[in-house]
Amino acid sequence: MSDTSYDVVNPATEEVLTTVPLADVEQTDAAVARARRAFESWRTVAPADRGRLLRRFAEQVDAHAEELAQLEVRNSGHTIGNARWEAGNVRDVLTYYSAAPERLIGKQIPVAGGVDVTFHEPLGVVGAIVPWNFPMPIAGWAFAPALAAGNAVVLKPAELTPLTAMRLAELALEAGLPEGVFTVLPGKGTVVGQRLVEHPDVRKIVFTGSTEVGKGVMRGCADRVKRVTLELGGKSANVVFADADLEKAAAGAPGAVFDNAGQDCCARSRILVQRSAYDRFMALLEPAVTGFRVEDPAMDTAQMGPLISRGQWERVSSYVPDDAPVAFRGTAPDGPGFWFPPTVLAPVDPADRAVTDEIFGPVVAVVPFEDEDDAVRIANQGEYGLSGSIWTRDLGRALRVSRGIEAGNLSVNSNSSVRYSTPFGGFKQSGLGRELGPDALHSFTEEKNVFLSTEV
Ligand code: NAD
Repeated sequence: MSDTSYDVVNPATEEVLTTVPLADVEQTDAAVARARRAFESWRTVAPADRGRLLRRFAEQVDAHAEELAQLEVRNSGHTIGNARWEAGNVRDVLTYYSAAPERLIGKQIPVAGGVDVTFHEPLGVVGAIVPWNFPMPIAGWAFAPALAAGNAVVLKPAELTPLTAMRLAELALEAGLPEGVFTVLPGKGTVVGQRLVEHPDVRKIVFTGSTEVGKGVMRGCADRVKRVTLELGGKSANVVFADADLEKAAAGAPGAVFDNAGQDCCARSRILVQRSAYDRFMALLEPAVTGFRVEDPAMDTAQMGPLISRGQWERVSSYVPDDAPVAFRGTAPDGPGFWFPPTVLAPVDPADRAVTDEIFGPVVAVVPFEDEDDAVRIANQGEYGLSGSIWTRDLGRALRVSRGIEAGNLSVNSNSSVRYSTPFGGFKQSGLGRELGPDALHSFTEEKNVFLSTEV
């Protein structure tokens, strides 16, 4: 990678799509200064008008949803079905938070000698640093509530996947958002990202990415007592009890880990199966995996595309050495592109690195367990705690295990973890703070208390 530009590659063909200029520290400072000036007027825009502008932004995204989706297919190798959902998610998150400016309600607290009220004040300039695995939704989860709360946002997309974020910034301007309120600044993490962390006028960082880089971001923020939200790695467990609807659990398991080629922080990349149901579950899982369609992501039938880069392909391959316990695999196209077949490793010792590391690729490890306590103990191993699924017909067990697993987002008899109206985030080293849902606004505001004396 050169210091001044980046060749953006289509991971399904390895062709260069375009070359994007990378910002340097001076350009980052200039963008923050513009955002700081824009913030002064954005915060004073009447709440209903701020809401209206965000709804117009949502309408622009909706009108260009197909274009954004096609762009994501080319830049990220996402299946067209996923990419359409992702563009729609940006629209929906903007619409959801467009109602927020008029509902950013403080309290009136009974006190002696006067009136006490609280305000939720915007922070100022918010720096958003996002990864390459879901370029559109993760950006939207940061910028939509931040803008709704009255902040200006400078967003740094991942080096590999800047194109949809750049297009979203254009759509924001076309929707009427004032210049400087929402800036997208492609650049290196160690240059633009680090400068946003260090810059005194950036009052908060929303970071989504690896746990390793996230720790450095948190250290940098600590020096300035800068507010920070971290959405980091995961190694989520898909826990299948013998009393579950095994057909349904097995049919859903490949999608829960191989969706987006496993490059999903919520990927259920450990399948824990109760030993008494192990053979039956594996027999049901095999056709679901071998039938998983890995093909040109632009095709409507594609269930999985390529990995994002050669580097990611090499990293994922290192988890499937020649002597790996491969139970069965799906297929993947030959030829150019960073293709990797869906791969099931089983049975795997819970201490194996395929079970403990976030592989971030289409590789799943199956681990047998004995009983409920054993399942919770294995699920809680390791430092991650983002997501997970529990399959059982026993309601009491579903609740006990849900309360027992240390993770921020669990689903019972389902693998869905993300809804814009519900909170999302991690326990342990999977993160700090929550995005989405009704309370996300509060992580983009400071609570201010004002006492007004009524004494004569
Ligand atoms: P990464 O940590 O390498 O990069 C994330 C972002 O940080 C990129 O924009 C990068 O340029 C920037 N960055 C790199 N070095 C930096 C520095 N020194 N200072 C500031 N910014 C810097 O992660 P990635 O490889 O792009 O993404 C994959 C990771 O993201 C996985 O671990 C995955 O689990 C995680 N993730 C978490 C969530 C979640 O919500 N919990 C969602 C998606 C992805």
